Amino acid sequence: MSAPPVLKPQATIGILGGGQLGRMLALAAARLGFRCHAFAPDADSCAFDVMHHSTRAAYDDHAALARFADAVDIITYEFENIPAETAAFLAARRPVVPDPTVLAKTQDRLVEKNFIKDLGIATAPFAPVESAADLAKAVSAVGLPAVLKTRRLGYDGKGQKIIRPGESAAAAWEALHSVPCILEGFVPFEREISVVAARSRDGQVECFDVAENEHRDHILKTSRVPAAIPEDVTVEARRITEAIAHAFDYVGVLAVEMFVVGQGSGPAVLVNEIAPRVHNSGHWSIDGCSVSQFEQHIRAVAGWTLGKPVRHGQAEMTNLIGPEVNDYAQWLGQPGVSLHLYGKTDPHPGRKMGHVTRVTPGGDKA
Ligand code: AMP
Repeated sequence: MSAPPVLKPQATIGILGGGQLGRMLALAAARLGFRCHAFAPDADSCAFDVMHHSTRAAYDDHAALARFADAVDIITYEFENIPAETAAFLAARRPVVPDPTVLAKTQDRLVEKNFIKDLGIATAPFAPVESAADLAKAVSAVGLPAVLKTRRLGYDGKGQKIIRPGESAAAAWEALHSVPCILEGFVPFEREISVVAARSRDGQVECFDVAENEHRDHILKTSRVPAAIPEDVTVEARRITEAIAHAFDYVGVLAVEMFVVGQGSGPAVLVNEIAPRVHNSGHWSIDGCSVSQFEQHIRAVAGWTLGKPVRHGQAEMTNLIGPEVNDYAQWLGQPGVSLHLYGKTDPHPGRKMGHVTRVTPGGDKA
């Protein structure tokens, strides 16, 4: 495929995936005069509500994929578990940005961890598990407590089990259906942070300020920006993110989730995982910044110059998870609060239904 064109307003951007990230990408694209066309298999795809066009079809429906490719100028994704074959099929017909080779490196936790390690960036100790013998070896190499994670298709804490000292590693692996896994040392982190960054086609990188993230039941609940971390940790977190973006020759927005660990002899920042897409911990940027992560992604995909993000103040983003969304009216009259509802119908427990962002002007101190 030849180099992707620089898009003009009114061009059509194809988006693989139909969730809230696609929805917010399309809203940002519309502001810049672009049209979006989503491709997703689920009828209940909340991105479809705001698209110029939508295709509901399976990721292996080649006829539908070919029609989709013909109808758009460029293709991106909001969901990193797009089958590699789908991405390759589309990439032969239209430019896919970020390059699908990134998916191959981030869809498998073992490949991803080795990629990070090879860049000289610290992670929790880890070992592969594909057999009972591997599991025993991994436990003695990594030690307990540890976290056993499926190599593929894990998100929001799905596909992982903590193994505490004295507990059976074999039982944990069985609970994960004995699929290929990675065993990671449990990190006694002080806090979790993430850096959301955009990289343009010509290699310009713009990082958003570091977010500090709190999870509840393994699902992101709150992101606060700026994170309450010392300057040297901020610098290191950004350096790591830029190094990863350059190593992928990445174009678009990506997020790097990290653990901050206490004083000791080892590194202060360990990378947990990379999301090759816009990220929940960057949602605050819609209301709290001069340019949002969604607009940055669209600009990068379009071949445009990135914005220089300037934050409007301290920002706190809270996810509305499951039935919490039913109380949306409580946020409407609160000063400095912006409400985002994703238009999803079934608020089952654990489902991200919307978010609110509170921006407090001024005051850079976290
Ligand atoms: P993940 O799906 O890898 O992002 O993990 C989800 C959440 O589980 C993380 O945000 C952490 O809160 C926790 N977690 C994951 N891996 C570890 C680890 N090695 N040590 C401690 N906590 C972890």
